[in-house]
Amino acid sequence: MLFDCGEGTQRQFLQAKAGTNRKMRIFISHMHGDHVFGLPGLLHTLSFMGRTNELEIVGPKGIADLVTSVNRVVKLYSRFPIRIKEAQHGRVVSDEEYEVHAAPAEHGMPCLAYAFVEKPRPGKFDPSKALKLGIPEGPMWKKLQASGSVKIGRKLIPSRLVVGPQRPGVKITYAVDTRPCAAVVKLAARSDLLIHDSCFAEAASAKARDYGHSTASEAAGVAKRSKSRKLALFHISAMYENPAPLLA
Ligand SMILES: [Zn+2]
Ligand SMILES: [Zn+2]
Repeated sequence: MLFDCGEGTQRQFLQAKAGTNRKMRIFISHMHGDHVFGLPGLLHTLSFMGRTNELEIVGPKGIADLVTSVNRVVKLYSRFPIRIKEAQHGRVVSDEEYEVHAAPAEHGMPCLAYAFVEKPRPGKFDPSKALKLGIPEGPMWKKLQASGSVKIGRKLIPSRLVVGPQRPGVKITYAVDTRPCAAVVKLAARSDLLIHDSCFAEAASAKARDYGHSTASEAAGVAKRSKSRKLALFHISAMYENPAPLLA
């Protein structure tokens, strides 16, 4: 999953060795250049590198127009299908392992904040316990991991004897570019990680207001109100060579 696609994305994507043909979704927050200018290049490169699997792009109104019009002028990609979804608010993706929800950010133009919500994961399987109970490694282990029970001789062994309690999934909220706002607080409720617009330090709070961005302390306020566990200050203005004023 890739959230936004600025100019540097392609390079980072290759460096991260994310794999060209994996299942992939791209989520675009809004139609400002620093969030979409990397998209044509990335699509071109993926095709060039041999991607054949479908790619889904989710974004606000206008994202389909961007992709199709670039493709009309510069033939970018032909080897893999692209599915474009212009998203509203609420649940925008539902997958086997996770959901992605969107909410309106406040940026002076249509802008979506996204929350990645992993579904609860099965508990930890304890191989030593299984062996002690005389369950051989193989299909029976798999069945127990999938919370089924197995029969050893005449004894029925339920999964809870060898598998721990269900583990809660991870929640990550991505909210740029935005002023601090109630919709994002609600979307981010109890995130393990909140990645929030933090363009400016407090001394430039008027600038943050004028440009539809947030200060670091406003981002912290959203983290606090949403009871998020960790905050990543993000989308920091190039005027800060040193993050000290933001961290303060
Ligand atoms: Zn913007
Ligand atoms: Zn931006």
